[in-house]
Amino acid sequence: MRQVSLFGATGTIGDNALDLMTRHADRFSLFAASADNNVDKLADIARRFNPSILVIGEAAGRERLAAALPDFSGEIWVGESGLAQMAQQETDIAIMGIVGFAGLAPSMICAAQGGTLALANKEALVAGGRHLMGMAGQHGTKILPVDSEHNAVFQLLQGQGDLQHVDKIVLTASGGPFRDLSYDEMRDVSTAQAVAHPNWDMGAKISVDSATMMNKGLELIEARHLFDVAADKLDALIHPQSIVHGLVYFADGSVLAQKGSPDMRVPLAYCMAYPQRIDAGVAPLDLAAHGRLDFAAVDRAQFPCLALAEAAMRADGSAPARLNAANEVAVAAFLEGRIGFLQIAETVDAVLQKAVSEGSDDVAALPAIDAEARAQAGEFIAAL
Ligand code: MG
Repeated sequence: MRQVSLFGATGTIGDNALDLMTRHADRFSLFAASADNNVDKLADIARRFNPSILVIGEAAGRERLAAALPDFSGEIWVGESGLAQMAQQETDIAIMGIVGFAGLAPSMICAAQGGTLALANKEALVAGGRHLMGMAGQHGTKILPVDSEHNAVFQLLQGQGDLQHVDKIVLTASGGPFRDLSYDEMRDVSTAQAVAHPNWDMGAKISVDSATMMNKGLELIEARHLFDVAADKLDALIHPQSIVHGLVYFADGSVLAQKGSPDMRVPLAYCMAYPQRIDAGVAPLDLAAHGRLDFAAVDRAQFPCLALAEAAMRADGSAPARLNAANEVAVAAFLEGRIGFLQIAETVDAVLQKAVSEGSDDVAALPAIDAEARAQAGEFIAAL
């Protein structure tokens, strides 16, 4: 029986992880679950899975949670310190489904525990990749990527030894809902259009990132840290059907590709049962029914967010953290209708262009770097 700590239990990753836990109640048991503010859903999860620990974002939520769960005998912790405490608990597998920069701190603590961290949070690797991988290496913590593309590459690299004979690692991208629009045609797209992802059912923020292709840029930065490869060995490829998730090119001309239906339960099941395989409840992939798989190069002029992310990846230092912070602020502003779609890239570009005082190269410096970039993005947007 594997004890699971589920960070971000009420989000998309949480839904899928809990679905797998329900299917395999003999293999997994929920030890701890966190939510930012969805008290009702967290209470429902607690009734169904009876965890020992719950963490909720704010103190007011704690009272509502306690009131909703009169028979709950476990701990209810609050906020960042609650998340930190949860991350320190000994567990078989921690699933990090928290979205955004908030996932960095608990990911760092999980990486210091020596267990298994199934990482779905992008920002921990984008902003703090070197630190996170360093911490995991130091403590023997296994980091398993939940994101479909990295999970694909992780699977493809099993048994391949070192990466000396890997020429290229390619992450596929659906191209999002605006794949067939020109740059100018994206000017007036609505938030509803941007969050309507063709293949994946995801949260609003990541759906917008998919529409701008910032998502793929962040994923390239993640891949760089996860697989310890040089930036020039990483590329993205448009593949509208989202069946092939990642490809590895080897020196001998062989190219391995991982395929699967676009369902988060596929990579999550791989992480949760690793190194075994379990039924993920996903219908078998019917390639004959799909008939064809299409691929196309990404036009960086059409998707400037991808080019910005690649530039930040090459610049390294604090650039990826600033890129990520500016993007979070810009996407939030877009979702609130305060800026247009194309202004997301403009905001990120403006923040990356700002001169920064490179502080210490320490994980402790990241919150200040993040905050500064957020403030700069906010100022840029206010002046638009
Ligand atoms: Mg992905």
